[in-house]
Amino acid sequence: MPSEPTVAPGEAGEVVVRLENASRVYNPGENEVRAMDAIDLVIRRGEFTALVGPSGSGKSTLLHCLGCLDAPTSGRVVIAGQDVTAGLTAAQRGEIRNKSIGFIFQSFNLIPVLTAYENIEFALQINGTMNAKQMRERVLEMLDLLGLTTQKDRRPNQLSGGQQQRVAIGRALAKRPALILADEPTANLDRKTSEDIIALMRRMNEQLGATFVFSTHDEHLMGHARRIVRLTDGRIVSEESRPAHG
Ligand code: ADP
Ligand code: MG
Repeated sequence: MPSEPTVAPGEAGEVVVRLENASRVYNPGENEVRAMDAIDLVIRRGEFTALVGPSGSGKSTLLHCLGCLDAPTSGRVVIAGQDVTAGLTAAQRGEIRNKSIGFIFQSFNLIPVLTAYENIEFALQINGTMNAKQMRERVLEMLDLLGLTTQKDRRPNQLSGGQQQRVAIGRALAKRPALILADEPTANLDRKTSEDIIALMRRMNEQLGATFVFSTHDEHLMGHARRIVRLTDGRIVSEESRPAHG
């Protein structure tokens, strides 16, 4: 069992990130694309939220803005009470990402020459807040939680897609970030493995208190979500929440 019940200091329900009237316009002018159109969205601590919409509806753009990988062209992004929209250098954005955000991508994006263990450890080295012993304990704990202990010395090309995505989940979660963003994390996985991966993320949400926002266009996976935000053409068209499951 994990030694720590929570991901980072803070209370359940507190606002992790907020988008206020946020728009992202590409190619301003005649061929402009409103990838994100006047979005208001509040993500609270402990949420397990699915962003759902067809390809091109703005899911990636929204996730990138939530995670400080991109910024809206108008409106505001507020992360942990700090307005990160304007006036920040690339280095300051990088610092916010490093401190507060974990990313999971559809193509796993593991470092090919590093083992499963080393991929997770590397994230902690970059984060830079733990000593060697703490890092080792944390990596082993993550591998155990993810059911990867026996695969820890394998490189990504010696792992299945589902195992690679587990490593990527471990890498994102190891530093216990305030927010985990997963952009179509199951798009390269078969149906059964996709279900397993979403169920694993949900378990991490419950066991570690990790706050997740993930995107998908797979209707099957939405059953796992506690909150569903539907996007069309850069706008939120509906939202639903479900009570905690029993
Ligand atoms: P999704 O992730 O839901 O597929 P995206 O956020 O990737 O949607 O894209 C939303 C819209 O923005 C689409 O119309 C897409 O073509 C457009 N778009 C995304 N990135 C760019 C870009 N770098 N330049 C121009 N248009 C873009
Ligand atoms: Mg996308």
